[in-house]
Amino acid sequence: MPPPPVRSVLWFRKGLRLHDNPALLAALEDATEEDGATPRPGCALLPLFCLDPWFVDPAAGRVGRVRLSFLLESLADLAASLRKRGSRLVVARGAPETVLPAVVQEWGATRLCFEGCHEPYGRARDAAVVAALAGAGGSDVDVRSRDGATLWDPAVLVALNGGAAPSTYAAFQKLVARAGPPPDPAADAPTTLPEPGSGSGGSGGSGRGWEGASWLGGGDGCAPSLPDPGWGADEEGTAAGAARRSARLVGGETSALAGLAEAVASPAWLRSFDKPKTDPTEASAGPGAGAGTTQLSPHLKFGTLSPRRMWRDVSAARAAASGPGTDPPVSLAGQLLWREHFSLLLYSHGDRFTRMEGNPVCRQIDWGAVDEEPYRSRLAAWKAGTTGYPAVDAWMRQLRATGWLHHLARHVVACFLTRGDLWVSWEEGRDWFDLCLVDADPALNAANWMWLSCSAFHHQAGPPGGRAGEERETDALPRRNALVVPSRPFVRPPPDVRPRCPPPTPPLPESLNPPHLCP
Ligand SMILES: Cc1cc2nc3c(=O)[nH]c(=O)nc-3n(C[C@H](O)[C@H](O)[C@H](O)COP(=O)(O)OP(=O)(O)OC[C@H]3O[C@@H](n4cnc5c(N)ncnc54)[C@H](O)[C@@H]3O)c2cc1C
Repeated sequence: MPPPPVRSVLWFRKGLRLHDNPALLAALEDATEEDGATPRPGCALLPLFCLDPWFVDPAAGRVGRVRLSFLLESLADLAASLRKRGSRLVVARGAPETVLPAVVQEWGATRLCFEGCHEPYGRARDAAVVAALAGAGGSDVDVRSRDGATLWDPAVLVALNGGAAPSTYAAFQKLVARAGPPPDPAADAPTTLPEPGSGSGGSGGSGRGWEGASWLGGGDGCAPSLPDPGWGADEEGTAAGAARRSARLVGGETSALAGLAEAVASPAWLRSFDKPKTDPTEASAGPGAGAGTTQLSPHLKFGTLSPRRMWRDVSAARAAASGPGTDPPVSLAGQLLWREHFSLLLYSHGDRFTRMEGNPVCRQIDWGAVDEEPYRSRLAAWKAGTTGYPAVDAWMRQLRATGWLHHLARHVVACFLTRGDLWVSWEEGRDWFDLCLVDADPALNAANWMWLSCSAFHHQAGPPGGRAGEERETDALPRRNALVVPSRPFVRPPPDVRPRCPPPTPPLPESLNPPHLCP
């Protein structure tokens, strides 16, 4: 006796891909014939993306134009890939807890599948959607959340570690050694997908919370016709858009897989990858040039690239390359472990991990009169790239224009804003990065800001000038950035732009991690 027909809504949030997508496979379970490709009669799949005002409403100030453009490109690419398989992407606009129950009910879904989200907002949102669904009479809908945003299921790691995330990278490495290798990537999507069918969801939802929903790439072609998220003209055609795209920061699974293929095609580069020795002036050159990094972070952020797929391909290429090479924390695999470690800390500590007050891992620092001058004008100069320091200013302008900074450039501007020179709270820097970065991620952003400001993980440096033998990031500028700073490393700005920083109190304890192990 065949199981009853399955009508699955596949709710995309991150995880905007068809490779290694366990939620997609969960949606297809029992919906295809034994060949895994031919849809069973009566079964249907509705891929859905919801433009959530919590993120995209300009008044909320949470997403900058660059990241939004990257998202829209990713959706267009996803829509084209679905179309090739006989399916279509629906993009709706509205609060998920309103849209999802309406879609499920009107389209007659029997199952709702999505990639599990471990971030505080995502967890609360998903709980609200499930509750709203039950409240709308959908308690018999089969809700399936599947893991795919990280290498290991964070719940498994936290349980293995006795209920909390390890606070150091070394302890995290020991934990994952005990956990064993991450699961293999899931099978790729079949070449044919069940059609969404008619339901009531076609072009334009029929009401009750998903008005304005439309097929993306409808008709014969795949031309994206995304709903205007309310931002007016996008960056298409602007100098900033061109700069971002020429830096290879183009949204979508297609671009992500091409970037990964390029990284693993250079075994020598991969074997000798040593993060602190990469060059912030070669950020857009990529692996082939020898000193760049992969620039895959926006793809890992939006899930246009699976971290398990990246881990597998990087590990295989590294194993195939002969000769000694680098290891974590500086190797490329080591970078993925940083991501994993910080994501686990956010999962374990929740929202408080992203701020200073109430954060159990964060030093409580007195950043001075944060609502007054000269604090406000120091911060404004840093944001605008008018501090008078050529490299800092160049990178801050690059950040606004392209959404991208090489890791060591992030080091410099973050150290400069906080402990290094301006003595402005790392939370201000976190917020600005969150708005501007194409790869902004709550866990990675907060953790790195805490690190660079010596608020957590690495407590050694602090006072202006640092301790004996301790180099401030800004002191390393002449060496690191001969291109941006051609002759004089520092052009002194007026005194009000470069105030003296008070030494931190109380005295800083010894370092938890040697500085060279900084992520
Ligand atoms: C102040 C500051 C803020 C940061 N904010 C973010 C952020 O919001 N989002 C973000 O993705 N990265 C952030 N980083 C980490 C890092 O700068 C970027 O991940 C990296 O530059 C991305 O470039 P890539 O993909 O070429 O990295 P690669 O060197 O090619 O590394 C591969 C992947 O490993 C992960 N990774 C690399 N470095 C780190 C790190 N230090 N911590 C955690 N994961 C890492 C990223 O997912 C990256 O894509 C921040 C760093 C600093 C100093």
